[in-house]
Amino acid sequence: MKVWIDQDLCTGDGLCEEIAPDVFVLLDDGLAYVREGDTIYAAAKGNPEGAAGVAKVPEGQEADTIESAEECPGECIFIEP
Ligand code: SF4
Repeated sequence: MKVWIDQDLCTGDGLCEEIAPDVFVLLDDGLAYVREGDTIYAAAKGNPEGAAGVAKVPEGQEADTIESAEECPGECIFIEP
Protein backbone atom coordinates (compact mmCIF):
# COMPACT_ATOMS: atom_id res chain seq x y z
CA MET A 1 0.00 0.00 0.00
CA LYS A 2 1.19 3.50 -0.87
CA VAL A 3 -0.07 6.92 0.16
CA TRP A 4 0.30 10.58 -0.82
CA ILE A 5 -1.23 13.91 0.18
CA ASP A 6 -2.46 16.73 -2.04
CA GLN A 7 -1.05 19.61 0.02
CA ASP A 8 -3.22 22.12 -1.91
CA LEU A 9 -6.25 20.73 -0.06
CA CYS A 10 -4.68 20.10 3.38
CA THR A 11 -6.28 22.11 6.19
CA GLY A 12 -3.35 21.48 8.53
CA ASP A 13 -5.43 20.15 11.41
CA GLY A 14 -2.92 17.35 12.03
CA LEU A 15 -5.48 14.58 12.41
CA CYS A 16 -3.52 12.22 10.14
CA GLU A 17 -0.35 12.61 12.22
CA GLU A 18 -2.33 11.93 15.39
CA ILE A 19 -3.78 8.71 13.97
CA ALA A 20 -0.69 7.43 12.11
CA PRO A 21 2.50 9.27 13.14
CA ASP A 22 4.69 6.72 11.34
CA VAL A 23 3.04 7.63 8.03
CA PHE A 24 2.18 11.34 8.29
CA VAL A 25 4.01 14.38 9.61
CA LEU A 26 2.93 18.01 10.01
CA LEU A 27 5.72 20.45 9.11
CA ASP A 28 6.35 24.06 10.15
CA ASP A 29 4.48 25.31 7.06
CA GLY A 30 1.29 23.96 8.66
CA LEU A 31 0.77 21.24 6.06
CA ALA A 32 0.92 17.46 6.35
CA TYR A 33 3.29 15.28 4.36
CA VAL A 34 3.81 11.55 4.03
CA ARG A 35 6.94 9.92 5.38
CA GLU A 36 8.81 6.69 4.84
CA GLY A 37 11.06 6.23 7.84
CA ASP A 38 13.38 9.25 7.94
CA THR A 39 12.39 10.34 4.43
CA ILE A 40 9.74 13.07 4.41
CA TYR A 41 8.12 13.72 1.05
CA ALA A 42 8.21 17.52 1.11
CA ALA A 43 10.09 19.97 -1.09
CA ALA A 44 11.41 21.61 2.10
CA LYS A 45 13.10 18.29 2.87
CA GLY A 46 14.54 17.93 -0.63
CA ASN A 47 11.98 15.41 -1.86
CA PRO A 48 9.04 15.50 -4.26
CA GLU A 49 5.63 16.12 -2.70
CA GLY A 50 2.00 15.89 -3.77
CA ALA A 51 1.23 13.14 -6.28
CA ALA A 52 4.97 12.72 -6.98
CA GLY A 53 5.80 12.14 -3.31
CA VAL A 54 4.38 8.70 -2.71
CA ALA A 55 5.36 6.83 0.46
CA LYS A 56 5.20 3.11 1.11
CA VAL A 57 3.02 2.38 4.16
CA PRO A 58 4.90 0.30 6.77
CA GLU A 59 3.57 -3.14 7.56
CA GLY A 60 0.89 -2.96 10.28
CA GLN A 61 0.05 0.69 9.54
CA GLU A 62 -2.46 0.00 6.78
CA ALA A 63 -5.60 0.28 8.95
CA ASP A 64 -4.48 3.56 10.57
CA THR A 65 -3.60 4.95 7.15
CA ILE A 66 -7.05 4.11 5.80
CA GLU A 67 -8.68 5.62 8.91
CA SER A 68 -6.66 8.80 8.39
CA ALA A 69 -7.84 9.06 4.79
CA GLU A 70 -11.45 8.53 5.87
CA GLU A 71 -11.23 11.10 8.68
CA CYS A 72 -9.21 13.71 6.74
CA PRO A 73 -11.34 16.87 6.56
CA GLY A 74 -9.55 18.02 3.40
CA GLU A 75 -10.21 14.67 1.71
CA CYS A 76 -6.67 14.97 0.42
CA ILE A 77 -5.08 11.67 1.50
CA PHE A 78 -4.87 9.32 -1.47
CA ILE A 79 -4.17 5.60 -1.12
CA GLU A 80 -2.77 3.45 -3.91
CA PRO A 81 -2.33 -0.30 -4.05
S1 SF4 B 1 -5.91 14.96 8.10
FE1 SF4 B 1 -5.90 15.73 5.97
S2 SF4 B 1 -6.32 17.91 6.12
FE2 SF4 B 1 -5.70 17.19 8.15
S3 SF4 B 1 -3.49 17.55 8.27
FE3 SF4 B 1 -3.79 15.46 7.54
S4 SF4 B 1 -3.78 15.61 5.28
FE4 SF4 B 1 -4.09 17.68 6.08
